[in-house]
Amino acid sequence: METRAAATALISADQSHLIHPLHSGADHAAPVMLTEGRGAILRDAEGREYIDGLASLWNVNVGHGRTELAEAAAEQMRRLAYTSAYVGYSNEPAVRLAERLVALAYPNLSGVYFTTGGAESNETAFKIARYYWRRQGRPRKVKIISRHHGYHGVTLAAMSATGIPSFHAMFGPVVPGFVHIAPSYPYRSGDSMAEALEAALAAEDPETVAAFIAEPVIGAGGVIPPHPDYFPQIRAICDRAGVLFIADEIITGFGRTGRWFALDHWGVLPDIVTFAKGVTSAYLPLGGVMVSGEIHRTIMEAPPAERFMHAATYSAHPTCCAVGLRNLDILEREGLVDRAGAMGRRLLERAQTLRDLPVVGDVRGLGLMCGIELVEDREMKSPALGLGARILREARQRGLITRMRAGQRGGHPIGDVICLAPPLVVTDAEVDRIVEILRDAISACL
Ligand code: PMP
Repeated sequence: METRAAATALISADQSHLIHPLHSGADHAAPVMLTEGRGAILRDAEGREYIDGLASLWNVNVGHGRTELAEAAAEQMRRLAYTSAYVGYSNEPAVRLAERLVALAYPNLSGVYFTTGGAESNETAFKIARYYWRRQGRPRKVKIISRHHGYHGVTLAAMSATGIPSFHAMFGPVVPGFVHIAPSYPYRSGDSMAEALEAALAAEDPETVAAFIAEPVIGAGGVIPPHPDYFPQIRAICDRAGVLFIADEIITGFGRTGRWFALDHWGVLPDIVTFAKGVTSAYLPLGGVMVSGEIHRTIMEAPPAERFMHAATYSAHPTCCAVGLRNLDILEREGLVDRAGAMGRRLLERAQTLRDLPVVGDVRGLGLMCGIELVEDREMKSPALGLGARILREARQRGLITRMRAGQRGGHPIGDVICLAPPLVVTDAEVDRIVEILRDAISACL
C-alpha cells in the first residue's frame, strides 16, 4: 500500500513538472514508471515485467543491467570525470574510442568528431558538408536532400531533414535549403527509387547541394529496408553530381542489422557517417560523426582563418567515451553483431506469421529491426490509422513495450507500423513471446 501511495505521488509530481519528449497530456494520464532492467526485460514500480521490444529507443544494444558499464563509468569518473577536449587538449578514452571506431567502420573513414546524441550528430554532419564545400571554393553548395519518412532528429536543422510531417506541424517553417524526396519502397514496387534523387538534383542544381542524407534502413519512419540496388545507385548518383552522401547510422550502427554498420550489406561507402545510440548502448549519452579521409584532410589542413569553428562542451566526454569503449568490448566478446543477424531472421520469420490476421499488411525487416504495417485491406490500398495505438496498449498490458510509426494518408501514405528492435541479447523464447503477445494484442483489437 505504501509503495502504491509513493508511486501515485511520483506520477502526480511528474504530471506537475516534467515535460516529456512528444508530450501530449492525454497520452500521459497513466505513465509507466520503469525502475529496473536486465537483458531484454524491464520492470516497473509495481513489479510488473515487460519485454523491451524496441531496446527502449532502438539503443540498448547490449541489454539492461550491465554492471560492467557502470564500473567503466565509475572508474573514469573517479580518475577524471570530465575535462575540455577543445583544440589543444585531449583525453585517453576519446582518443582510444576514435581509433576503435575508425577500425570498425568503413575503410575510407579516418576522422571522428564526438557529440552527445543523434540530432547533434546530424547537425554536425550538415555543417561539415557545408564546411567541406566552402573549403573547396564552392560556397553555394549548402542544401541538404533527405527522404520522406526519414527520421534524423528534431533540433531545427535535423527536424528540417526529418521527412515526417507531424514533426513540422507546430514548429515550422523548416530551415531553408532542405529538400525531401521519395524513399525506396521495396514493399510496394520493385523499383529502387534512386532516380528520385537524380530528379531532385536536376531540379535544385547540384551546384547548390551539399549532401544527401539517408538511414540505411528507415527506423522511426516505419522500418523500411531499401531495395538492394538502392544504395549502390545512390552512391553513383552522388559521385556523378558531386554531392556528399551522409549515412545516418544512428539506429543501424553497432550491430543492429547484423553488421557493424549497415551499408556493408550492399558494399557501399558513405562520405560521412553519423552515429549515437548503440555506441554506448545508451548507458551514457554519446554520438558522433565519422568522415572520409578527404573530408578529414580539409579540416586538418585548414588555415586559421578557415578553422573548424564547431564545438560543444561535451564533445569527446571522457566518461561517455570510456563507457563506449567497454560497450564495444561487450559487443565483440559476446558476438552480438552476428547474434543480431540470427535473432533478426527468427523475429522476421515469426512476425511474418501474423499476416494471417486481416489488418496485417507488409511485415519487413533487416537484422533486429522489424516493422509490421497495419492495413484496412490486404491490397494495401488503405493504410490503417489509429489501430496501432490500440494494439500498443493491448501489448503493454500483456507484457510488451514497443513503439510505432503513426500512419498518414496524404503525401506519401503509410499505415501505422508497429516497430520492433529488441536488445541484441534477446533470447529465442523472448522473440517468440513478442510475436505471441502481438498476435493476442492485434486479435483483441479486431
Ligand atoms: N537519426 C535517427 C536515424 C534516429 O533514429 C534518431 C533517434 N531516434 C535520431 C537521428 C535522433 O537522435 P537523438 O534523439 O539522439 O537526437
